[in-house]
Amino acid sequence: MTDEPSIRIAVIGSGPAGFYAAGHLLKDSAGRFEVDMLERLPTPWGLVRSGVAPDHPKIKSVTRIYEKTAANPRFRYFGNITFGEHISRAELMEHYHAIVYATGSPSDRPLGIPGEDLPGSHAATEFVGWYNGHPDHTALEVDLLSAERAVVIGNGNVALDVARMLVLAPAELAPTDTADHALEVLAASRVREVLVVGRRGPAQAAFTNPELLELGELADADVIVDKAELELALAAQDAAAEADITSRRNVEILRSYAERPVSSSDRKRIVLRFLLSPSAFTPDEHGRLGAVELVRNELAPAPGGGLRAQATDERETITAGLAFRAIGYRGIALPGVPFDERSAVIPNDGGRVRDPDSGAPLAGEYVVGWIKRGPSGVIGTNKKDAQETVDAMLADLCAPSGRNGDSPANGGPAHVPSDPDPASVEELLRARQPELVTYAGWEAIDRHERSLGEPAGRPRVKLTRIEELLRIAASEQP
Ligand code: NAP
Repeated sequence: MTDEPSIRIAVIGSGPAGFYAAGHLLKDSAGRFEVDMLERLPTPWGLVRSGVAPDHPKIKSVTRIYEKTAANPRFRYFGNITFGEHISRAELMEHYHAIVYATGSPSDRPLGIPGEDLPGSHAATEFVGWYNGHPDHTALEVDLLSAERAVVIGNGNVALDVARMLVLAPAELAPTDTADHALEVLAASRVREVLVVGRRGPAQAAFTNPELLELGELADADVIVDKAELELALAAQDAAAEADITSRRNVEILRSYAERPVSSSDRKRIVLRFLLSPSAFTPDEHGRLGAVELVRNELAPAPGGGLRAQATDERETITAGLAFRAIGYRGIALPGVPFDERSAVIPNDGGRVRDPDSGAPLAGEYVVGWIKRGPSGVIGTNKKDAQETVDAMLADLCAPSGRNGDSPANGGPAHVPSDPDPASVEELLRARQPELVTYAGWEAIDRHERSLGEPAGRPRVKLTRIEELLRIAASEQP
């Protein structure tokens, strides 16, 4: 510990990236940092709570690491606080030496084709939020009772999560923390067939080996791959894919699926299709999604290397009452913070936020996770990513001259807050948001949810409405 006053950091967002950044800062052996984490929802953990599929409980156990960070006496959690609404960027700069933006990529990328807003067509982000009990998506109406076929657009892990969730057997879903409203609808679902459609080939798919293997192990569903389509899609030479171990293993797994005999017709099916792009979603006679029109692609060299999908004249129409667009997440601009519309990230150099005009680093502003690098990588990727940003912060804020506001020789500029008193910012936040949720409030929610889940052998029963979450948080927090 040092006698110097602490370096006070505000982390905006409580997902993996925010928690890894907080953890790295608090590990500083000189104990120089104090971290306040501001989160829009009452609950922490970001996509670990509202993105990771409910049948992947092991992945969620990463929160134990974040709980250790939260237990540090130099850490505070302020939930139910919206950046830009309850407190502005300029106000935070008055109270903290630095802000770390860790707000992820909460939105979806549109396909930009006719009919994508028809009822029955959903962004995967909404559907994932819905089955995971994210308060923003509880009201989503997913009609699983009319359609027998769903089409999932995209070849990433989110596409596979969505496909799997649509065909999991009630017995597979029962022991999970799937939101209760979704459990009921999924149990009554009439969906029998899910087509997962990739615009390029199997060697270029973004999904990973364990997720692809899982499709072959489902209790109630077969995985179907057409051998001829698979081999056609593998015909183009792709040196990068051939050198990639994940891609090579994906191809092996897909070839093994193509050899599998199709079992009894009463089982559900996940059908993996390749070299197809949706060109339009068309309505049925009730104005709901009725069919997905697809164009056949071939693979052509891309200008920057690799292979891109190039449309041919061949078309195909697939009757489907449901479609899920799983073509990637997208970042959202934060009020007053630089944002690059094209890449949907906060412009930065290794985590130092850059002035979009001059390109120079902005004093006291940093970024981590998907809003720094775009929506790629697994949860653990954010650990290394946050380390890079924290290293830049250490260079800027801990260099001898940095805390005086001078530019340290070895880093970007530092920032000196006018009112770094921890009590003062808490008072301001409580005045702006009387229903602020502290970490003790979250722990009350956590205990409550776990106790609801226990009798049924479930990890938890999630509270999905903000009022409910606030009521339980208020019952125990000071
Ligand atoms: P992703 O991995 O980037 O995959 C996006 C997919 O959408 C790609 O197949 C891409 O094809 C396709 N796509 C993009 N634009 C398209 C268009 N206009 N038309 C048709 N297809 C299009 O994104 P994600 O699935 O959203 O996943 C985000 C990140 O979270 C990934 O890093 C993923 O691994 C991770 N994640 C991990 C897990 C897990 O570990 N179990 C679960 C979920 C998510 P192209 O390649 O041709 O662009």
